[in-house]
Amino acid sequence: MKPKLELINLNDLNLSESKEYYDLLLKNRRDLHKIPELGFQEFKTSNYIYNQIKDYVDKIYKLATTGIVAYIYSPNNNKTKTLLLRADIDGLPIQEENKIEYKSEHNGMMHACGHDAHSSILINTIKYFYKNRDKLKINLKFMFQPGEEGFAGAKKMIDEGVLDDVDYATALHVWNDLDIKKVAIKKGASMASSDSFEIELIGKGGHAAIPYQAYDPILTATNFINYCYSYFPRAFNNSNSYILSFTYIQAGTANNIIPTKLILKGTVRTFDENIRINIASKLEQILKSFCNLNNIDYILKYNLGYPVLINDPFLYDIAYKSLQKIGVKIEKFKSMGSEDMAYIFQKVPGIYVAIGSKDEQNNSPHHNPKFNINETSMLIGMQYFINFIFTLQENI
Ligand SMILES: [Zn+2]
Ligand SMILES: [Zn+2]
Repeated sequence: MKPKLELINLNDLNLSESKEYYDLLLKNRRDLHKIPELGFQEFKTSNYIYNQIKDYVDKIYKLATTGIVAYIYSPNNNKTKTLLLRADIDGLPIQEENKIEYKSEHNGMMHACGHDAHSSILINTIKYFYKNRDKLKINLKFMFQPGEEGFAGAKKMIDEGVLDDVDYATALHVWNDLDIKKVAIKKGASMASSDSFEIELIGKGGHAAIPYQAYDPILTATNFINYCYSYFPRAFNNSNSYILSFTYIQAGTANNIIPTKLILKGTVRTFDENIRINIASKLEQILKSFCNLNNIDYILKYNLGYPVLINDPFLYDIAYKSLQKIGVKIEKFKSMGSEDMAYIFQKVPGIYVAIGSKDEQNNSPHHNPKFNINETSMLIGMQYFINFIFTLQENI
């Protein structure tokens, strides 16, 4: 079944083009939806994308195992700037529960975040600019990136040189928290950094009835957790800009034994790189104090994950104008979610846009076994890319 194409003000795409691209967007997205693969194992996905675009680009090669890079050069000025457009291509380890004809054919794997839609949008943006390359005054570089869902695929592509000739970057995400025909962007910090930690507390086990003979890691952990929960919300200026949560605790074997060891895990999200680093050092300082107090040894593993995603103010203005032309409602985007595009925006100016994709029949959130999108959002996403390219090249 094909959802009705909702008519929006599509500027560069006229009505017959809209219908033509809508059919292509649907086909590519549904083909990819059937074959979801996990980070750095996207071999079928990568081959599918490669075959779809290879005849429409000037140069194409594979990078970072399953990633693809392709170019369409400006015919008007080969010394011009280069804009990177990125789509992530990986699925998630989720068993799909949707009853749809294009359901995942891979057991235990699913496109439950919309990366199939991102890939389809970028494939068709390439097809559009193949036909309209005479209008191009900048070079376009397309990046199909593996492993966004926790594998830092963008970082691997950067390490392998994807940004060497890039001046600007943009990406989008279909967003089910937003209605169709709404989009969201924000200047500056827009998505959170995502760090995690794992703590092992090593005390001295003993009899539950004779606690003075033991060094109890449970007592230390509960005091430590309570202190963190009261301390951190008050520790730094702008308490809305970060959160620390404990998410896992494991210790003990029986009700009459004080255990020797305890494992504690948690996560830290921030919108501020300074606060991020301060939380990491303060957490260890507090941990050390409680452990000293209770004769407990500790091992702390603090894993720095995706950085804060920071949108460039100049590109924000370009994106805002590009979105205004589509006639969608523009909201402010701030999410405690994280995104590995943040590594790219640390190196080159970039802008990230959320495209409303809520499906009225199905309001399942991202990463849910029943996740699905309103597929007309793909046409809005594609038009955003087209407008962004044309607006940028007139303003640099
Ligand atoms: Zn996701
Ligand atoms: Zn995603």
